Amino acid sequence: MSSPEPPAPAVRATRPTADDIAALVGELRATFEAGTTRPVAARLAQLKALSEGLRAHRGALLEALDTDLGKSAAEAQLTELGVVQQEIGHHRRKLRSWLRPERFSPGVMLAPSRGEIHREPLGVTLVISPWNYPLNLALAPVVAAIAGGNTVVLKPSEVAPATSAAIASLVAEHLDPAWVRVVEGGVEETTALLAQRFDLILYTGNATVGRIVARAAAENLTPTVLELGGKSPVFVDEGADLEVAARGIVWGKFTNAGQTCVAPDYLMATPRTLSRLLPLLRREIRRMYGADPSRSRDYGRIVAARHFDRVAGLIDEEKVLLGGLETADRGARYLPPTLMTGVGWEDAVMQEEIFGPVLPLLEVAGPAEAVERVRAGEKPLTAYVYTRRTEVEEAFTELTSSGSLAINLTLAHVGSPTMPFGGVGESGMGQYHGRAGLEAFTHAKPVIRKPLRPDTLRVAHPPLRGLRAALLRRMMR
Ligand code: NAD
Repeated sequence: MSSPEPPAPAVRATRPTADDIAALVGELRATFEAGTTRPVAARLAQLKALSEGLRAHRGALLEALDTDLGKSAAEAQLTELGVVQQEIGHHRRKLRSWLRPERFSPGVMLAPSRGEIHREPLGVTLVISPWNYPLNLALAPVVAAIAGGNTVVLKPSEVAPATSAAIASLVAEHLDPAWVRVVEGGVEETTALLAQRFDLILYTGNATVGRIVARAAAENLTPTVLELGGKSPVFVDEGADLEVAARGIVWGKFTNAGQTCVAPDYLMATPRTLSRLLPLLRREIRRMYGADPSRSRDYGRIVAARHFDRVAGLIDEEKVLLGGLETADRGARYLPPTLMTGVGWEDAVMQEEIFGPVLPLLEVAGPAEAVERVRAGEKPLTAYVYTRRTEVEEAFTELTSSGSLAINLTLAHVGSPTMPFGGVGESGMGQYHGRAGLEAFTHAKPVIRKPLRPDTLRVAHPPLRGLRAALLRRMMR
């Protein structure tokens, strides 16, 4: 009697070798070359399948997000599954109209003629995603890649292993494996992937690895969208609605335990505003997460001990006003919401992106100094201002540079499928979300058409003398 077959593993072990990766990319290229991904109906069908997959795997995905980051189901719905579903819905409604060729006039020199911009797929694309919103930041770019008519390899973050495995299983079960593939793994697998030739790489994560990705991409002249981070400032103006500001800042900072690329990194205000804002910040922290945030279902955990140690190292206990290391628990990866006052610009906490639940409060003389401070640093992913004054809004709009600028709100703007999302300078390059995603994952190809006769361009052909030369001189003046 033969022994019974061992049960099939829930998730296929996907630790491929460099040869496997080369073969996989070859298969995806064959799919692209066969034209499978071009018809809009086929793209819409893959997007629908992804949406259904998200629904079918909802339980497993929520569990994975809880395991990796202590995310509650409600928060995961809001910031992960919901964002991807919204992105899919928006693409499904708009894709046909976005793909309609856009007319342009080629100008008098080429008359008579007609011009059209066609959005053509790029080919085989690679998405490399980070651990902090491990579902959203993996699948939202995949939506754009599919919508653009590309095949795609997705490499989720190994730092959120449960979510990585759950995504691999969702994609394998619901999407066409000749179109979308997941490669799980860390540096080794990503390095093997980067040795392959892609037609676009979208990477989300820190700028050090961003440089590695850009360098590898340059070998093949592969364009990159780099979604990086930075120290996103928040300035609270005198006369702003401090209650709304405190609510927005606490929510923006402590959602996902501060591990959000667009979290307000540090807060600037005049001493007078700071002293009035402080009690409101404390009150909002208590209101949102209770007297003991470690018991709140709405408060997340630091992803790993290594990250816990890094953020804990930025806390100066002497400057802690609330939270700090006293109630922190490394074993449980719990760091409480922490406010630090009396922070100087030279302090350790101001030398790198905090990416954790620590909010330093810094005194400035007014909006002019706040603008100067932002200008003195690297360009952040986003900047926040709470104000009632138009001139302060204008100063930030005109004089500072950041991926985006949000006035009187935090965080929520990045969930909008109609807002292009991305950084500038050290916070990244390129944008996606909604139409911007389609634009990133396609080539805008101008197609220009002239009737054969009259052959008006003869005027530019040599010999360029006499009447022709005179005519050209007139036209090109
Ligand atoms: P991470 O450690 O998960 O790394 C990101 C990806 O890079 C992973 O898939 C990882 O496998 C890969 N990687 C790591 N080392 C590599 C190497 N040597 N070679 C090739 N690939 C490598 O995530 P992280 O970098 O810690 O993410 C946090 C950073 O990302 C923060 O700076 C944050 O602001 C930024 N971020 C930006 C956005 C955005 O949309 N702009 C979103 C989230 C996070």
